[in-house]
Amino acid sequence: MKKILVFALLIFVIMLFIPTLSLNIIEKNNVKKSEPKLNEETYPITVYDVNKKENFSIEMEEYLKGVIAAEMPAEFEIEALKAQAVTARTYLLHHLKKYESGHPDHPQAAICTGIHCQVWHSQETLKSIHPNDWFEKYWDKIEESVNSTKGEVLVYDDKIIEPLFHSTSGGKTENSEDVFQSAVPYLRSVDSPYELEAPKLHGSVNISIDDFITKLNNAYGKLNLTANNLKDKIILNDISEGGKVKTVKIDSIVVSGRDIRTLFNLNSTNFKFVQSGNEIEILTTGYGHGIGMSQWGANGMAENGSNYIEILKHYYTGIEIKDISE
Ligand SMILES: [Zn+2]
Repeated sequence: MKKILVFALLIFVIMLFIPTLSLNIIEKNNVKKSEPKLNEETYPITVYDVNKKENFSIEMEEYLKGVIAAEMPAEFEIEALKAQAVTARTYLLHHLKKYESGHPDHPQAAICTGIHCQVWHSQETLKSIHPNDWFEKYWDKIEESVNSTKGEVLVYDDKIIEPLFHSTSGGKTENSEDVFQSAVPYLRSVDSPYELEAPKLHGSVNISIDDFITKLNNAYGKLNLTANNLKDKIILNDISEGGKVKTVKIDSIVVSGRDIRTLFNLNSTNFKFVQSGNEIEILTTGYGHGIGMSQWGANGMAENGSNYIEILKHYYTGIEIKDISE
């Protein structure tokens, strides 16, 4: 009888332990499966290589170095590079979150190496497209821009923003709704006064009047345009706060400035037509869509004594800089 009691007690004790044991196993498995923390240097991300048409895995901070090097001249001021580093990290995290199960344009991954997302180059590519001493001269600086801003991202209302940027605004950036569909509170038109060194601040495209009219006719159907009536028939009728052409009236139709930019391969939608002799000269100001941070403007601000935080707060209205672990 005693033996039976002892045996029953033993069974009872074992049964008490079984759930604890299995819980332990589950917890251990969970620990194993859990993602590394975002602020860890080893955080691996998956990127879609647009040239090789395949995914690769890379540590986040290493990836960022390849983006800074591809997206901004390494000759730029360190504070401008740091601003780009925070922007690149924010852009990446925004994409990882928004396109968790793949970007609609590349379902293989949330982010790609092309201009479609933000450009990334491998160290091999960077060495092959730059002079021999480029890597030795600038890589430390690129690493510094990433390391010294480690984990820092841009937030608005405590949410990670989509930090659009462009090369040269032409003096003033754009309100998001003047270029794309929606009004984004942190993408407001602001002055960008320090762009005088930007190589594409001013651009021009020359085209004969005949070719100009033919291109428009091919794109929009037969329009009543002649060399003599162009001045009256083409009207830039809606200009944005940043100085870009939103719509153009051509004869009886209205087309967007973006369509004209694409049609004539212009640097920006800040353009005007100058007719002289048999030619039309299309003059442009700035380069890119004009929303968010101007890279040449950022470098100009850095040259004039601004640090990366001041640069970012200037171009992204109402944002804060936070550590991703927060
Ligand atoms: Zn992409």
